[in-house]
Amino acid sequence: MENVIIVLLRQDFRIHDQPALYQASLQGKVIPLFILDEHTPYAKKGEASKWWLHQNLEAFHSTLKSINGRLWIDKGKTQDVLTRWIKETGATGVYWNRNYDPNVYKMDKDLALSLSSQGVEVKTFEGNLLLPPWKIRKEDGSPYKVYSAFYRRLRKETIPKPVPQVKSMNVPDIKHIGLLIKELCLIPEIPWYKVMDSIWEPGEKAAMRRFHRFVNNSLEQYHSGRDFPSDRHHSTLSPYLSLGIISVRSMFHFLIESENTKSETFIKQLIWRDFSYSILLHFPNSPEKPLYEKFERFQWEDDLVNWESWTKGKTGYPIVDAGMRELWATGFMHNRVRMIVASFLTKHLLIPWQKGADWFFNTLIDADLANNSMGWQWVAGSGLDASPYFRIFNPTTQSEKFDKQGQYIRRWVPELNKLPNKYIHKPSEAPLEILTSAGVVLGESYPLPIVDHRSARKRALEHYDHIK
Ligand SMILES: Cc1cc2nc3c(=O)[nH]c(=O)nc-3n(C[C@H](O)[C@H](O)[C@H](O)COP(=O)(O)OP(=O)(O)OC[C@H]3O[C@@H](n4cnc5c(N)ncnc54)[C@H](O)[C@@H]3O)c2cc1C
Repeated sequence: MENVIIVLLRQDFRIHDQPALYQASLQGKVIPLFILDEHTPYAKKGEASKWWLHQNLEAFHSTLKSINGRLWIDKGKTQDVLTRWIKETGATGVYWNRNYDPNVYKMDKDLALSLSSQGVEVKTFEGNLLLPPWKIRKEDGSPYKVYSAFYRRLRKETIPKPVPQVKSMNVPDIKHIGLLIKELCLIPEIPWYKVMDSIWEPGEKAAMRRFHRFVNNSLEQYHSGRDFPSDRHHSTLSPYLSLGIISVRSMFHFLIESENTKSETFIKQLIWRDFSYSILLHFPNSPEKPLYEKFERFQWEDDLVNWESWTKGKTGYPIVDAGMRELWATGFMHNRVRMIVASFLTKHLLIPWQKGADWFFNTLIDADLANNSMGWQWVAGSGLDASPYFRIFNPTTQSEKFDKQGQYIRRWVPELNKLPNKYIHKPSEAPLEILTSAGVVLGESYPLPIVDHRSARKRALEHYDHIK
């Protein structure tokens, strides 16, 4: 009898360097299966991520069809759904690439035990990172807490080569079971996602094009230009990495083999991603709890009016407002601006980083538990290898430095469009005649700053003093 293998998909919607799918395709007939499991936080992502997931399920289904395969869909508790599928299809094995969301990871361990005890062959693979997150450790076996040491250690390792692309598949004749992608109801009823639709092209081919366009046009300037939001020298690959539409190992080997000396800064960023997964594995509470315990005593103020102003991009600090509006419209925000808005929320407004992290998780299409938690803890000063708390970004000087001509602000805060460069970063300091000729009425067409930078900084440092 021919083997039938179910490949459980989560974060790996691709046919290149897809270890579970590749190994299954060598064994016999394959059932690529996506289960929307409401019991996992993975399925509880926000509407932007769900929209992105829908687009990519559709795209992956087409890709699989082009190699004689198809994608099956179901929903429910993973273990229950799998038991039903194994019974109905006679599957002899279940393979998956590991997912390191702490709840999914734990669930998968139980799943593996239970399936194995029923005589089902279980195989798991590394499909998301350069190396499994437990691999890079110090001599004494403890995890690295400092990124630079982690990076140096990882760079000494051999990164496994990508597995060959799956070129054709054999699927069993089981058309009758499962759901249609649209039955998962991932697309919001109100079509607010029009801008995202025009920016983000789903699927593996689009991801590859984006990667090669980045390598050809931006890699040279990445080191010096990646901090400037309107220069667009960053890759915008995070939405593709977050769903595994592109393989990080394939990117790594492509860059190494091309021997471009400019690649290393970009490789370093990819390694930050491995570092954040290592932190998540070793500190599974890090999405909720500060890694430095003293921060548990931090007195947050959590003012609701300030929170609303931040989420809506109406703080009166143009760079913060531009970032928050970019996020709302596109599901993405530039890295430097993520740091500025996160610092503003946690330090100027004293709103807990966990609340900001939740907002990001719900609105980003690249929402990634490991990267998001590390990013927020880093900015808030409570994370490993974090920016010290007392280093409080001045949003105006950050804006003057990284968006000198105000192009990024002009794009996302169009009501300030006509202000001269000198005042675009700080409209509240502009003389009345300049505001009038630019059509800006402070407090009406654009808000006055909701907090004063100097006093907010002083207040934040006083709060920090209490826990030092
Ligand atoms: C507060 C905050 C929240 C964040 N939330 C997320 C998130 O939910 N999902 C997410 O993917 N990234 C997150 N990041 C990290 C980073 O901002 C994004 O990965 C990056 O902006 C994505 O843009 P890009 O693909 O153009 O990056 P590039 O500069 O082109 O970098 C290439 C890739 O390297 C990885 N990378 C780059 N910077 C980082 C970093 N600081 N930490 C970890 N990996 C990195 C990403 O996978 C990225 O796609 C967050 C950062 C901060 C400060």
